Amino acid sequence: MTSNPLQNPLLFIDLNNFAAYPTLAVGYLIRSLRLANHSVELLSPLALGVPAFARDHEENWKDQLLRRLYFSSHPVLNKFHDSLRNVHSKWLSRPHPLMIKEVHQAIAKRPAAILISAYLSQYEMCVEIGKAAKAAGIPVLLGGPFFNLAKVTDEWLNIDGINAIVGGEVDFTLPDIVDTLQEGGDLSRHKGVFLAGGKAGDMIPPLKELDQLPTPDFTDFPWDKYPHPIIPTMTGRGCSWGACTFCGDVVSANGRTFRSRGVKSVLKELAEQSKTHKSKDFIFLDIKLNSDLAVWNGLIDHFQEVVPGGRWIGTVHVNHKGDNGLSAARLKDAKKAGLTRISFGLESASQTLLDEMKKGTTIEDCSEFLFAAHEAGISVRTSMMQGFPGETVDDLRQTNAFLRKHFDALDRVRLSLFKPLPNTPFDRLYQRQPEKYTSLKQFKWDYRLARGLYRYHPNRAKDYRKEKRELLKLVYAINRKPLTDDAQQFNGMM
Ligand code: SF4
Repeated sequence: MTSNPLQNPLLFIDLNNFAAYPTLAVGYLIRSLRLANHSVELLSPLALGVPAFARDHEENWKDQLLRRLYFSSHPVLNKFHDSLRNVHSKWLSRPHPLMIKEVHQAIAKRPAAILISAYLSQYEMCVEIGKAAKAAGIPVLLGGPFFNLAKVTDEWLNIDGINAIVGGEVDFTLPDIVDTLQEGGDLSRHKGVFLAGGKAGDMIPPLKELDQLPTPDFTDFPWDKYPHPIIPTMTGRGCSWGACTFCGDVVSANGRTFRSRGVKSVLKELAEQSKTHKSKDFIFLDIKLNSDLAVWNGLIDHFQEVVPGGRWIGTVHVNHKGDNGLSAARLKDAKKAGLTRISFGLESASQTLLDEMKKGTTIEDCSEFLFAAHEAGISVRTSMMQGFPGETVDDLRQTNAFLRKHFDALDRVRLSLFKPLPNTPFDRLYQRQPEKYTSLKQFKWDYRLARGLYRYHPNRAKDYRKEKRELLKLVYAINRKPLTDDAQQFNGMM
């Protein structure tokens, strides 16, 4: 089926405002719709002047104060903690007035249908869009990375004015789904589509034919508003390790099971996108860029052939078993190939905790990797987690000692509190043996936000709180370090 050329364009609303580069998934879907002759217009918050939320921005005393409040478990502060956090997260997720105004104006032009790409913090904005679309009689389809989880989707299906939710990789099937939406047909005949009242299409399996994906279309994104033109790309979906008990990425729509595009199609896309967008800088959004060593090594060996003078950043997993592609020699080659910044999940420097998380890494390997990457001249960023179930004061001491030892080698640390996520191995472990998790008090799921809420008990002990304060101090000191010019241009991108 092809679209009616006389029809008004589809309105694609990309609510993602967490990155200073185009949204990769939206680029794929827009290309797919255009290949099927759909006319599409994109509405993106940044284009309207809504400020982007920057990760790893330049920190100052206010960030440290907020961090101390956020991580605090002092008995007195605890009383206000939940309400403070609620106010903060509501403030972050509030619909921006500019966005609301623009959505109303766009709906007044009567698009053929509305497609929304949303994160789970954007419920209120989706309510706003649903209301306006319903009043105008325009059908709406909602999608996002976690709508493949039935319990999460159930919570969102009650938004008035949303016809259906898409939960899965629909890169090749979205045009057909949109046709059915416009015709008022039965959407449940499409895989991965959920409807209010419990009706749904069959589950959609992970997409296998990644090498047949077209080049994403980023031409509608506000390139002039980005601080630096960086092109997002992905060499594969999922993670070849996929076992970390806390990991929500590998249960998301795109992250289920590991699939690689193969190096040939990746290199072809790099050359094409660099030419189209007149930029030589790339961010690889793979959750584990060294999942397929043929691709990882292919990038190191050929990136400069397809994008001479180009630079790139990505996230790797320092996996312990077998070759992980991260030897000192390979990292030096990677630097020569343009790898400017690398991110990895350290999580904790306690081996006991890492094993409990099924992280598949050792502290010695992480240490070697860190020193080797730094020595090669690559800026290193890591993500860490505080409050993983069972974390003790001794685990925190080991982590602090590790951060002191690797202070010079680490450029940025992103520290978060442990967040239980539905459908992860943690969810299953908790259901099987809730009594094992004595440290998690008052545990309950919030499926609208797809996260578990709890109080962490050891937080109250004085020596634990002292080590935690030390951890926050170290993180702040690392995040205040000046960056090289190259690394600075990529700061806040992952
Ligand atoms: S290595 Fe990273 S992406 Fe893979 S399962 Fe672990 S946390 Fe998730």
